[in-house]
Amino acid sequence: MTAAIQSTQKQIVAADRLRAISMLDSAINNIGLYNGTSPAKVKNALSKHFGGATSTAFAKWIKINLHILRTLGPLAEYEIIATGSSFWACDSPGVIATAFWCVPFVAIRICPEYFNQTPDERSATLIHEWVHKYGCNLDLGYEGETSYSNNSTVTQLINADSFAQFAKDAQ
Ligand SMILES: [Zn+2]
Repeated sequence: MTAAIQSTQKQIVAADRLRAISMLDSAINNIGLYNGTSPAKVKNALSKHFGGATSTAFAKWIKINLHILRTLGPLAEYEIIATGSSFWACDSPGVIATAFWCVPFVAIRICPEYFNQTPDERSATLIHEWVHKYGCNLDLGYEGETSYSNNSTVTQLINADSFAQFAKDAQ
């Protein structure tokens, strides 16, 4: 990878990180306004990403979790893995990024595939990795997979993609 590509990719990740932070700020603000029915995007995102749970008590719990992510996520560091690298963390097809589960002081690895996503998707990917790193959540289904929409509320609470996709949709 040339130095020019490397520095462009670094700038992209830096912008994605800022967008991820404002995504969380906006989702936290919107969930704070939630009264059980509106804002509609909060209700729809809760229902879609947390197995149909849309009560205000449940929303408060999600808000607390988003706050923790908003506090810790921005502390994460990134290592961009070059195209063609045989680095294990990016070695299987379709991998966009990896974080050591529950290990706070190791950089999140950004794989070449990451840069094929849209800006909002890239920011949601960063939040997804923050959830692994700081929330210790697992990969129990990605949005778009059949298993994801069949997941129970309890499963989605320990899944990583649920929180990231919620923030993307509720922003
Ligand atoms: Zn994951």
